[in-house]
Amino acid sequence: MSQIVDRPAAAAVIPVMKPWLGPEEAQAAADAVASGWVAQGPRVARFETAFAERIGGGTAVAVSSCTTALHLAMVLAGVGPRDEVIVPSLSFIATANAVRYVGATPVFADVDPATLALDPEAVAAAITPSTRAVILVHQAGTPADIDAIHRICDPRGIAVVEDAACAIGSTYRGRTVGRHSEQVVFSFHPRKLLTTGEGGMLVTTNDEWGARARRLREHAMDASAAQRHTSGQVVIEHYLETGFNFRMTDIQAAVGLVQLGRLDEMLARRRQLAAVYAEVLADIPGLRMASDPEWGTTNFQSFWIHPAPGRMGRDELLARLLADGISARRGIMASHLEPAYAGHPHGPLPVTEQMAAESLILPLFHTMTEAEQEQVVASLHAHLG
Ligand SMILES: *Cc1c(COP(=O)(O)O)cnc(C)c1O
Repeated sequence: MSQIVDRPAAAAVIPVMKPWLGPEEAQAAADAVASGWVAQGPRVARFETAFAERIGGGTAVAVSSCTTALHLAMVLAGVGPRDEVIVPSLSFIATANAVRYVGATPVFADVDPATLALDPEAVAAAITPSTRAVILVHQAGTPADIDAIHRICDPRGIAVVEDAACAIGSTYRGRTVGRHSEQVVFSFHPRKLLTTGEGGMLVTTNDEWGARARRLREHAMDASAAQRHTSGQVVIEHYLETGFNFRMTDIQAAVGLVQLGRLDEMLARRRQLAAVYAEVLADIPGLRMASDPEWGTTNFQSFWIHPAPGRMGRDELLARLLADGISARRGIMASHLEPAYAGHPHGPLPVTEQMAAESLILPLFHTMTEAEQEQVVASLHAHLG
């Protein structure tokens, strides 16, 4: 059970993550409020344009979260009842839930222990005549081998949706993640790099799908509120299909525009902090950790470590770190082990179960100081060295 523990203010704990927000974001939000237009409007449109430019093209559709972006992606890919969608269990549970939202069945496949992304061989083995799509997660920001999944799926007409919730600014074969599949989704939750409080983005290379996504997020209206407002004429809208309210607000988009301008700085700082961890933790016997795969670069959204089994249980290590003033976290969850998926059939998931039980995530955030990182490293050396 999760619980919130009140700690005395004096006991400063190094957090696992802290969003990097400044007075510019506060001003941008205040300006949106002062403008009188607070729901989806001109700032959302500007955020979408700027986001697509940063990714290098495509149609970007801003929504209320990455979870709703995943839901839309399932609808656009035509996934429905009796379809199967191959997903990693080792992911935030929203990945699997999105499949259920459209009445389809998530099929859990195991992951590669180095990248924590779907193992292409496991995907190939999980395909049945009912397989309609694969959701490829760039876990913790580490780019998955996208081409390997497309080589399996494309000839069979299976859609590939990339869950890049964590992977803004990560690269695959020299290009920013977001351009390698027909649909790629991002999150702006504060646990990720860029934040709008809550928020998400669906990027598609398919213009028709982009237009449909823009309608679906707004109750499938054929004329958006912003269009009606600015048309200068009476516009009677129509509702073309069963849509959703998945809109982002202009207040959120105002914050997102400022955050996007900070992305390169965020990436540089995270990679610098990760390089220090990689160097100074290298002497801990058997310790594995997040790293760049051969085909790309990670944004180190989460710096996970996997201690050699046997020395000390993961949860005990977390408790000892907390006693040292360090708020680390368990590693990525295994969705199939949660009550929501009790009784849900699945094949063997040995890597998923080992990583969910034994890995943890270390503090890493933009404003982390050298002294804070030294404290984390010293604590790890004391307990694992
Ligand atoms: C955080 C996360 C999500 C959900 O993002 P929200 O914006 O919070 O809905 C989905 N998939 C993965 C892999 C995530 O890490």
